[in-house]
Amino acid sequence: MRQPQVVVVGAGLAGSLLASLLGQRSINTLVLEARRDPRQHGSQGGRSINLALSTRGRTALARAGLETAVVTDGMPMAARLMHDRHGQLTRQPYAKDERQAILSVGRAQLNATLLDAAAKTPCVEFRFEQKVTGLRDDGKAVLLGDETIESDLIVGADGAGSIIRQTLERIGCCQSVTEPLGHAYKELELPPVNGQHALDPTALHIWPRGGEMAIALPNPDGTFTGTLFFANETFEQLQHEHQARDHMANQYGSMLQHVPDFEKQWSTNPVGFLGTLRANRWHHGHTVLIGDAAHAIVPFYGQGMNAAFEDVRRLDELHAAGTENLPEVLFQERKPNADAIAEMALMNFVEMRDHVGDPMFLSRKALERKLGRWLPKMFTPLYDRVSFSNQPYVDALRHGRRQDQLLRRLQSLGLGR
Ligand SMILES: Cc1cc2nc3c(=O)[nH]c(=O)nc-3n(C[C@H](O)[C@H](O)[C@H](O)COP(=O)(O)OP(=O)(O)OC[C@H]3O[C@@H](n4cnc5c(N)ncnc54)[C@H](O)[C@@H]3O)c2cc1C
Repeated sequence: MRQPQVVVVGAGLAGSLLASLLGQRSINTLVLEARRDPRQHGSQGGRSINLALSTRGRTALARAGLETAVVTDGMPMAARLMHDRHGQLTRQPYAKDERQAILSVGRAQLNATLLDAAAKTPCVEFRFEQKVTGLRDDGKAVLLGDETIESDLIVGADGAGSIIRQTLERIGCCQSVTEPLGHAYKELELPPVNGQHALDPTALHIWPRGGEMAIALPNPDGTFTGTLFFANETFEQLQHEHQARDHMANQYGSMLQHVPDFEKQWSTNPVGFLGTLRANRWHHGHTVLIGDAAHAIVPFYGQGMNAAFEDVRRLDELHAAGTENLPEVLFQERKPNADAIAEMALMNFVEMRDHVGDPMFLSRKALERKLGRWLPKMFTPLYDRVSFSNQPYVDALRHGRRQDQLLRRLQSLGLGR
């Protein structure tokens, strides 16, 4: 390829979708990826096995003509299903219209679909096992060992540990901070029982336990992927498998009974870090950051990938419109939205962990859904705004705060009890 018009660093979820969109518009695009091609060598783990896909992500996929392919592979989840300590279940639909569902999709399959689609377009070249080492100080070329690759646009889609962001920091264009959540995660597979899902496959399951929790999302192969979100100290205390089993038996019996090889999984599956990355600037010269490289968030709203896909869609729209100074324009538009979803993701952690079992919270949610049905034009619950619309996150948060105040007032007047 002669000098590429766009260099994308990272062929993860955001980078591969972007390559597909650019390729479809005949933009010469070079994608540099540090890992081996996951379609040939399998995915290398380290991130969640499945992800919740919602409207923003679907809108970006639709722009690339990929929504149907991805949705067909996904498992619709129309509700949260809460498991209390006594094994009692409470079902809480996600949307005011119960036909609306978020989708559980496999990360490896999704990444492969996106890579295949991009590779079909003749203008996209992938170079795997190519670890970018930095940026030239003017932000107009990527460094790959001894090689310098100039381009009109450089997109850092290289994830939370982004070398592109680190280079922007080194040359004084950006400052970032990663706020650890203080909780980490570990995944467990729940195999099928007699060929069927072990739990209701139409819901996202939650075991809220105040201070910690577990969730499980269905996969099309009949398994569930469970994720434990424990405080860092709890993971440190549960060094031995028998201690972990005791903790699970006390708190998460209805999950543990579906994990026959719990000890093996506990000792083999890694503990993953969770935190919020905030960077005060994402651009310099011809370079801009997107996705986790710019704004990694905690996973409790299921929006990290969806937000990354929204970055991709907006980048492609601005590029197609011939926008001058695209890196800065994209940053100005996306930064407030990234801050808003980061805040909502943290709020949702507290909600899922502590409140979804609380009767006052549940009655407020029920009232919220009723108002949504009675006054659909005036009252859209926050979850619907975030997960079932493309309303900018920053507007969703503003409306959500106002509505929450109203709901609390109505509740204090005795409504919704
Ligand atoms: C436990 C957990 C659950 C989650 N659940 C959800 C969910 O339900 N819904 C949701 O929307 N989001 C979810 N997320 C968030 C989601 O995983 C991320 O937001 C998403 O993966 C970000 O995509 P990305 O392309 O920006 O980064 P990544 O997917 O991390 O891709 C970055 C790519 O860059 C490559 N790379 C890195 N450094 C270099 C280099 N120097 N040179 C070349 N290539 C490089 C990497 O190898 C990788 O392929 C979850 C995250 C976690 C941890």
